[in-house]
Amino acid sequence: MMPQPCRLAAHNRMIARAVLLSLVLLLPASIAIAGELFAIEPLADGVYAAIPHLRANCNAVIVILDDGVLVVEAEATPSAARALIDQIKKLTQKPVKYVVNTHLHSDHTQGNEAFLRTWPTGTEIISTIATRANLERQGIARWHNEILAMPQEISKLKSDLKTAASVEQRDTLLRDIMEAEDYFKELKTVHFTLPTLTFDRSLILNGGSRRVEILWLGRAHTDGDALVYLPAEKILVTGDVLHGWTPTMRDSYPYEWIDTLDAAERLEFDTVVGGHGDVMHGKARFELWKEFLRDIMQRTAAAYADGDSMEDAKQRVSEAMIPLYADRLPRFRKFIAEDVAKAYQIVNFRN
Ligand SMILES: [Zn+2]
Repeated sequence: MMPQPCRLAAHNRMIARAVLLSLVLLLPASIAIAGELFAIEPLADGVYAAIPHLRANCNAVIVILDDGVLVVEAEATPSAARALIDQIKKLTQKPVKYVVNTHLHSDHTQGNEAFLRTWPTGTEIISTIATRANLERQGIARWHNEILAMPQEISKLKSDLKTAASVEQRDTLLRDIMEAEDYFKELKTVHFTLPTLTFDRSLILNGGSRRVEILWLGRAHTDGDALVYLPAEKILVTGDVLHGWTPTMRDSYPYEWIDTLDAAERLEFDTVVGGHGDVMHGKARFELWKEFLRDIMQRTAAAYADGDSMEDAKQRVSEAMIPLYADRLPRFRKFIAEDVAKAYQIVNFRN
């Protein structure tokens, strides 16, 4: 079936996002798309994971309540959020009453406006107080910086085009340029939309036949991470506190992150949906991430104590950790150097 024109536009924008991120992170662009933007995976009666086909977006979770829908995560762009909304409408006619922003990062929040435009008076965007403050203080600035950086990214693609070595490379670059321009257009039209309902430690929806607990269990991937827990269904939604790839530490508090993972593990659950990667089961991944966090901090502290510069530590710790983790943590090689840099900053700050 051919995609609808509007969906096609959304797809194009998402491809652009993926390509751009690929360029920034030097990742291969994942652009194989057939049909919908998200694979919908049933988790329990009326609860679904929406797993994006493009890495630029994040996993969402759809929870159908008695009189509405709760969605965890708002995706990277309004067009991706609209695509998610279209897919939700195929599951239920109920309106989305709640959207949870698990933390400030743009791949989880930049689509917020699409929900408010679809249900202008009826949707609350929920986050921790800290995440709303982070979006105000850092999120808006990062969005502006990305807008400022994009023309340069596009110019770089255009200059690469002039020196393309093969027809295939040229075609890829032409497509990348078109898609980058498309994404840039959307980024400029984003109406940065902040959460409308905030909480400190927990916000519990008790109203209907399903109990939903939105929890802050401590600082972790950021200082404001919200987890969403469905006790009856034994489902835990962890945002980027725990997911299927490698932890990314840019805004993190790694020592406290370990404690927060411990706190999350004390909940009773079978199914875990993180912000990225596959749906998980049980607690094995919690143990792996804690091992990774302890290890990276110890190794970086040792490198620092030996007088290594940040660049030396990045190389030394990355090289030591690749054989231990690269097979167990997807995208390890992409993120490890930046993670060591963050670990180094923390060790340096403490000394
Ligand atoms: Zn994140």
